[in-house]
Amino acid sequence: MRLSDLKTGEKGVIVKVMGHGGFRKRIVEMGFIHGKEIEVLLNAPLQDPVKYKIMGYEISLRHDEAKMIEVVSDTEAAQAAQAAAAGENSDGDNPAGNTVAGHSEGSIYVNSPADDEQPMSVRHLHAEAEKRHKTINVALVGNPNCGKTSLFNFASGAHERVGNYSGVTVDAKEGHADFEGYHFNLVDLPGTYSLSAYSPEELYVRKQIIENTPDVIINVIDTSNLERNLYLTTQLIDMHLRMVCALNMYDETEKRGDKINYNKLGELFGVPMVPTVFKSGRGVDQLFHTIIQVYESREGDLPSFRHIHINHGHEIEHGIARIQEKLKADESVRHRYSTRYLAIKMLENDRDAEKFIKTLPYQDKIIRARDHAAQRIMEEKKVDSETAIMDAKYGFIHGALQEAGYEVGQTEDTYKMTHLLDKLITNRWLGFPIFILLLFIMFEATFKLGEYPMEWIENGVAWLGSLVSTTMPEGPLRDMIVDGIIGGVGAVIVFLPQILILYAFISLMEDSGYMARAAFIMDKLMHKMGLHGKSFIPLIMGFGCNVPAVMATRTIESRRSRLVTMLILPMMSCSARLPIYIMIIGTFFAVKYQSSIMIALYVIGIFLAVIMSRIFTKCLVRGEDTPFVMELPPYRFPTWKAIFRHTWEKGKQYLKKMGGIILVASVIVWALGYFPHDESLDPQAQQEQSYIGRIGKAVEPVFRAQGFDWKLDVGLIAGIGAKEIVASSLGVLYSDDESFADDDTFTSANSGKYMRLYDKMSADGITPLIAFCFLLFVLIYFPCIATIVAIKHESGSWKWAVFAAVYTTALAWLVSAAVYQIGMALS
Ligand code: GDP
Ligand code: MG
Repeated sequence: MRLSDLKTGEKGVIVKVMGHGGFRKRIVEMGFIHGKEIEVLLNAPLQDPVKYKIMGYEISLRHDEAKMIEVVSDTEAAQAAQAAAAGENSDGDNPAGNTVAGHSEGSIYVNSPADDEQPMSVRHLHAEAEKRHKTINVALVGNPNCGKTSLFNFASGAHERVGNYSGVTVDAKEGHADFEGYHFNLVDLPGTYSLSAYSPEELYVRKQIIENTPDVIINVIDTSNLERNLYLTTQLIDMHLRMVCALNMYDETEKRGDKINYNKLGELFGVPMVPTVFKSGRGVDQLFHTIIQVYESREGDLPSFRHIHINHGHEIEHGIARIQEKLKADESVRHRYSTRYLAIKMLENDRDAEKFIKTLPYQDKIIRARDHAAQRIMEEKKVDSETAIMDAKYGFIHGALQEAGYEVGQTEDTYKMTHLLDKLITNRWLGFPIFILLLFIMFEATFKLGEYPMEWIENGVAWLGSLVSTTMPEGPLRDMIVDGIIGGVGAVIVFLPQILILYAFISLMEDSGYMARAAFIMDKLMHKMGLHGKSFIPLIMGFGCNVPAVMATRTIESRRSRLVTMLILPMMSCSARLPIYIMIIGTFFAVKYQSSIMIALYVIGIFLAVIMSRIFTKCLVRGEDTPFVMELPPYRFPTWKAIFRHTWEKGKQYLKKMGGIILVASVIVWALGYFPHDESLDPQAQQEQSYIGRIGKAVEPVFRAQGFDWKLDVGLIAGIGAKEIVASSLGVLYSDDESFADDDTFTSANSGKYMRLYDKMSADGITPLIAFCFLLFVLIYFPCIATIVAIKHESGSWKWAVFAAVYTTALAWLVSAAVYQIGMALS
């Protein structure tokens, strides 16, 4: 527990002090050292500061400061001892005994009036504190692709995805490891190049470091790219954290013949540097040994464990000092942030730091000091302070590397293959054809190969439906299970194989390094849309399912590109819309036109995406388009296991959607069509007089401009939950046949079914023109609830989610109405 949680009169033993170095130093100097007993003299609610007694002295601490000190209280120690005793006794053969032993032992601690008279309990308290002290919280921080996850897997025995493309998830993964009597809690953080507040990854990593206060940071460094990787290290040094650098990929630098005196480099940075190869586990023992050393010793005890200030040059340092002075006036800042770090961030115009400063009482003074310093730097150096700081950091790195005798071996050798391949793949003339060919293969495989497992699933769903129909007694419940749940979810689950195949291809492309090249090739084109090359990957994924695609926008650093990519994603026709296309096209258009109309729909979607993105980037989401490094990681052969796992991770999103929203939506659509129920009516008449029929009729005037009748409107309403439900609803309404939802290609075998549907629909006055407008509407309008929720989640606000819902529907209405009216005028 934290020291701040101890109540008046309670005692505890200090386990560890967390937080940044400056804070820890001050607290340790006051006597808050691990293993020391502490008693709370006065901790009234709402009272600040709190009074403590430690080593015979009275000391007061602010509540926030006490929160950063981990202690074990005597009650906790008693509970732990009790649990341990219970655990031991349960192994024995006297089960009745353990409760007795547990109680009697426990009561000694809980009632103990003074520790001095109870040496037993004090000993336990200390033992417990020592045990907890031996738990070290470690966070893995580093650039993308430097090997963090490899270390995480190696050390914790986990099987997280290692990839060759910056990760799609911005989540921290937790694992555990034991070494030399210590227990490590490892957190694998997303890769970042720096700790500026540009991308969600960067903000996330910062938040993790500041709020979860890991004891030691492992800064994983790709040694074959030393200079750039050390940039992040300099920022971590600003934060004043206990840190160990893993010089990973050491094998590659050795092969290349690089020279570096890493001990010297460690001393210059004040951070221990350990050469490692996480692929094989080389150096991992030494790394963990060093972590323990750093954790147990005090700053300055080791030559490579001391806090240095990166020298940013006279002008900047002067500015930092002035800002720091103002920051230090506020006591509440210092326990949480190193003031130097905050001052640097202020000079960098860091939005997140500014937001924090704005909560302080002295904010005006601080901002004024910053503005003043920034102006001086500008006058002096002719660049803005952010650039000046970056230059200074690179200057520092360059100097340190020089001093540590850094020499790069023959560069060409290790990346020869990569460079050769890149010449081909990113070639001006060959790049695009290769890319289009790969896309073609991907989609062909997805739709052709996917048909087989689709058929099996279809049969399985049909079998399950008939099984339930025959075994359950007749009634609304049976109808709900068969038509609502099995019918609704079954219509969706058939797409799972296609989605998995598509995602397997995407994973293969990502993990091998090709996707980065695809983004690179597309960058120019994407820029014309106001987007970034990286937007391209989510857009491609959108053809499978928009939900994981929206999540994949996390890799895009620029907020503007990220948002706009999310907003235009619904224009990428997801596979759930496919059965609707097939049903309507199969019914209304001659075989020789079918494929072209289908392709036309996809193309129209892409075309609208381009237009909308241009409009959005111009008018809606402003902010300059900051250039970001387009990473071209070396090509690597991905392992099958990694691809399998990666595919599954993405597919899981789709399954989740099925288990949740689609299930609920299917049941709702079913219920709206089922009630009020009249046994004597045939299914169509039943639908017409049901709630959904009434809703359809009520909205009919809205869609008069498109020529839709109420049955088509019902289909559109059903599609709000999930597009998958549109086809089955229309099937029921027009021909009492739900099987249209299962059709994935144009087949002549079913032609009778389509003929019947054609007769019914044209009898209702649906012309091919109306049918086409209906398809356009389906393509463009409200994607589905799951996508909207995903947009809310990724953009951080309902505002954008609602906007996406509204603009897509409005656009769908306009486009379909325009096409209908023009079509009518021409004919
Ligand atoms: P992360 O993005 O930092 O989590 O990096 P990963 O752990 O996903 O690793 C990226 C790639 O580098 C994977 O293909 C790993 O197999 C590879 N890798 C990791 N460590 C080493 C190493 O020490 N040497 C070499 N040659 N490759 C490594
Ligand atoms: Mg990783």
